[in-house]
Amino acid sequence: MTRILIVEDNADNYELVRFLLEQAGHDTCWARNGRDGIEMAKEEKPDLILMDLSLPEIDGWTATERIRSDPQTKHIPIAALTAHSMPEDYKRALDAGCDGYLSKPMDMAVFKETVASLIAKSNTEPKRRSRKKTDGHKE
Ligand code: MN
Repeated sequence: MTRILIVEDNADNYELVRFLLEQAGHDTCWARNGRDGIEMAKEEKPDLILMDLSLPEIDGWTATERIRSDPQTKHIPIAALTAHSMPEDYKRALDAGCDGYLSKPMDMAVFKETVASLIAKSNTEPKRRSRKKTDGHKE
């Protein structure tokens, strides 16, 4: 089963996202601030992280950068989940290391499509990496 970490401080937003993900058959876990998000990324080893950007303790941009700079978690796809939908906010989220972007209020079809494509990416990336390693050590 695919496990998805939701980093979101707003309980209503969290409930909606959790509902959509569970409808799609995914397992979820919840961090309510950026600091817990970074910790849970390490502990829960999720297949995907949905990251709100405006968060207490540590904001979503910083949390994304920390997750990206930790060898244990840097491979996990992250989608920014936010009402910050100006082009510069999108660019800033990608610069911090996000792989995708989901704006609030959510479009259900876009949400499902983005989650599915990021999970597919999560499933193919480790294979790509190990193939590269094999190429470097030919027997
Ligand atoms: Mn928030």
